[in-house]
Amino acid sequence: MSTLHDLHSHSTASDGALRPPDLIARAAAAGVTVLALTDHDTLDGLPGATAAAADLGLSLIPGVEISVTWSGQTVHILGLRVNPDDAALNQGLVGLQAFRDWRAEEIGRRLARAGVSAALDGARRFAQGRIIGRTHFARHLVASGHSPDLRTVFKRWLTQGKPGHVPGEWASLEQAIAWIRGAGGIAVIAHPARYRMTSAKLRRLIEQFQALGGEGIEVVSGSHSRDDIVSIAGVARRHRLLASAGSDFHDPENPWVELGQLPTLPEGLEPVWSRWEQAG
Ligand code: AMP
Ligand code: MN
Ligand code: MN
Ligand code: MN
Repeated sequence: MSTLHDLHSHSTASDGALRPPDLIARAAAAGVTVLALTDHDTLDGLPGATAAAADLGLSLIPGVEISVTWSGQTVHILGLRVNPDDAALNQGLVGLQAFRDWRAEEIGRRLARAGVSAALDGARRFAQGRIIGRTHFARHLVASGHSPDLRTVFKRWLTQGKPGHVPGEWASLEQAIAWIRGAGGIAVIAHPARYRMTSAKLRRLIEQFQALGGEGIEVVSGSHSRDDIVSIAGVARRHRLLASAGSDFHDPENPWVELGQLPTLPEGLEPVWSRWEQAG
């Protein structure tokens, strides 16, 4: 049987729009055979996803997408095949969730000063799990007529220099990798082309990442262009990083990122899944 890997996705446990069982059903219908659920800073979606995957014969990789502050910017590190019961990983994520809660209140206060009242209450109505994030504010701001669409909300309200932006400290790169490895997982740099780093800065990130035990990089991502894929494939070969592929699916309403609709990995790369699918 042929396999189709999609190793980056979100559910209502963080800022995805589908509940874990509905996400799994959509992935299976799209022909995905191996799906990683990688919610932001939480493992809460995994029990429901695991049960649904077992029912549908889909292989579920327990994952997480950890928010990291590195060299003054936010970087996302995926943990693939983590043990969801690992105490230190769970403890680390509790700390990030506490920062998210404080940040959500601060976003609410800043938006109020900019003339948008009760944004936190609005955002909370869109958050269906423990995690609250900018996507929930964005959905509320669109629904309440402050912006026409998600892309515009982020640009106008929620990114650096805009009224609802709150700078802050997420996990360190060292912490994120230690939590992932301690939980038996493989650390993967998510959507590297999104960070708009110079090649020198990306090299510095990768060198530190590898020195700390990080092993993989997302070459194929729903947020990468064809050119990004070619360029990051070159980076992965040069640094001998395991190559990952994931849609970063959040929401069926977003027509340009669908589960499993991914170009194949370029030649000459070792797929991250070779780690758990050794031949023989
Ligand atoms: P947070 O981790 O709460 O700061 O939110 C980050 C999330 O916001 C990302 O994972 C995306 O889901 C979403 N996001 C960030 N930038 C944009 C954008 N320009 N358009 C739509 N969604 C975005
Ligand atoms: Mn997200
Ligand atoms: Mn991300
Ligand atoms: Mn993601």
